[in-house]
Amino acid sequence: MSLTIIPASVHPDLARHQESMQPQVFTLNGNIHTAFGFAIVNCTLIEGDDACILVDTSTSVDKAEIVAAEFKKITEKPIKTIIYTHFHADHVSGTSAFVSEAELEEGIDVIGQEELVDHVMRDVGLIAPILGRRAMYQFGMRLPIGQDGTVGAGLGPPQRPGKRSFVPPNKTFEKIYKGTTGGINFEVHLIPSETEDQCAVWLPDSKVLLSADAVYESFPNVYALRGTRFRNPMIWAQGVDRLREFAAQILIPHHGRPVEGVKKIDELLTDYRDAIQYLHDQTLRYMNKGFTPDEIKEIVTMPERLRDHPWLGEFYGSYKHAIPAIFVGYLGWYQGDPVELNPTPWKEKASRYIDIMGGREKVISLAAEALGADDEQWAAELLTWLVRANSDDQEARAMKAEALRRWAYQQKNATWRNWGLTSAMELDGKLDLAGGGMVLGSPDQVKGFPLVNIMQVMTVRLKSEESWDYHMRVAFETSDTEERCALEIRRGICQFYENPPIDFDARVTFNRKSLLNWIFSKTTFDEAVGSGDIIIEGEVDTVATFLGKFEPFNQSDEISLAAR
Ligand SMILES: [Zn+2]
Repeated sequence: MSLTIIPASVHPDLARHQESMQPQVFTLNGNIHTAFGFAIVNCTLIEGDDACILVDTSTSVDKAEIVAAEFKKITEKPIKTIIYTHFHADHVSGTSAFVSEAELEEGIDVIGQEELVDHVMRDVGLIAPILGRRAMYQFGMRLPIGQDGTVGAGLGPPQRPGKRSFVPPNKTFEKIYKGTTGGINFEVHLIPSETEDQCAVWLPDSKVLLSADAVYESFPNVYALRGTRFRNPMIWAQGVDRLREFAAQILIPHHGRPVEGVKKIDELLTDYRDAIQYLHDQTLRYMNKGFTPDEIKEIVTMPERLRDHPWLGEFYGSYKHAIPAIFVGYLGWYQGDPVELNPTPWKEKASRYIDIMGGREKVISLAAEALGADDEQWAAELLTWLVRANSDDQEARAMKAEALRRWAYQQKNATWRNWGLTSAMELDGKLDLAGGGMVLGSPDQVKGFPLVNIMQVMTVRLKSEESWDYHMRVAFETSDTEERCALEIRRGICQFYENPPIDFDARVTFNRKSLLNWIFSKTTFDEAVGSGDIIIEGEVDTVATFLGKFEPFNQSDEISLAAR
């Protein structure tokens, strides 16, 4: 069947939204400089008498270098304090562009909430392969930039993969941190909202509030398509209420532009929290009547004043991708119909439906008809059965790719657009599927993680089918930083011990550098043992067998999302 490829286009609202994000540095109160539009995220430099405070360090070292150069044009005063507002990679990954390792050693306060590192580790460790892959779709990182690709992320300019570093906080706190740098008094307040560790920075003398990601220039991402834990909308709305209590004169969000004026800020924050609560309350209202997420999506729309609010456009978050997350957050995945409990297997179901529909050729012609009638969604849904039944069906894949492209061009939501176009690339066989493993964890990033966090990841790398009859306990130790932990494979599961038990079958000692070399496959286990970089107490072969029970730490499975 011949396929018409339609020319690329961008939803006019999305195009306008993205075009307004040209890079610029806003200077507020004379001494506060917010770099906007250089990356998906803002960084803010607060200039004191003889030293500066930096809030957030951008999404990658490459982007951070550009921002650091901009800040250098403004002031040469050294950065003495760095504050991370929360753990998301776009806020913590460029630190090394602003301060050198030597400066860090001389004493720079790096301030973060006490659970920040644990959150980073979950994303960069336990679920890194899938989260990294899905983030690539959400941000359209492999798409060209422009009409035929990504125009941005919905809350900033296009996000590109880049080199990431991670400098963990050396000053942590639970709820509030107060300090003074260069004569500037500052407070960091834990205000759970978009994330559990979200913090706002308050400058009491100038009444300036840095609101991090509790509010940004888009409808809030109550759910992130890349995958996230439940973001309880009511915790978020209450977080915005706490921001209102500051009665700030200047509000600096870290995605979006600063806002000035007490009244204007209060009105914005009130509308923002109202939109969040509205979606939450109406979703629960219909959940309580037994409605399913898809049914609720059909019903719940926003009041006009909030729908058309300049800060609440569905460019990043959307009602339709938030509603099922709210449902799942409260009730879990089960919608209540027992046909969901043990469904007909995935591929078998597809084959049976295709038979009922009249066979493959019939489905192809129905899909072509739908495409001809501009019903891309239906075309894509029909073709999904063919691709599911046979993922090598190139004609079905090409047609579904075209349906998804046409669908994506019409989307106002940047993450939907990015996901649709990336899926089309995957179906066309033009997307490199390799790149699982520690895609979020570059050596520079992992370097900053404690041994326990690194080794804990091994538990979800266990090849259980090779260890059903196997039992062994190995202790791990670093010679330079004196960190310890242990892993025990016990007939199909691997238990992690933060404090190693006294009895173990073998002990592995390495320094941090040799650990990283091994993890990132710069050397093999045998080579490292041979050169003395890894010291084994016990049988070398036994330890090698033990480690062989795990998938390689930095594995690179092929991961496909659209063609399954
Ligand atoms: Zn962010």
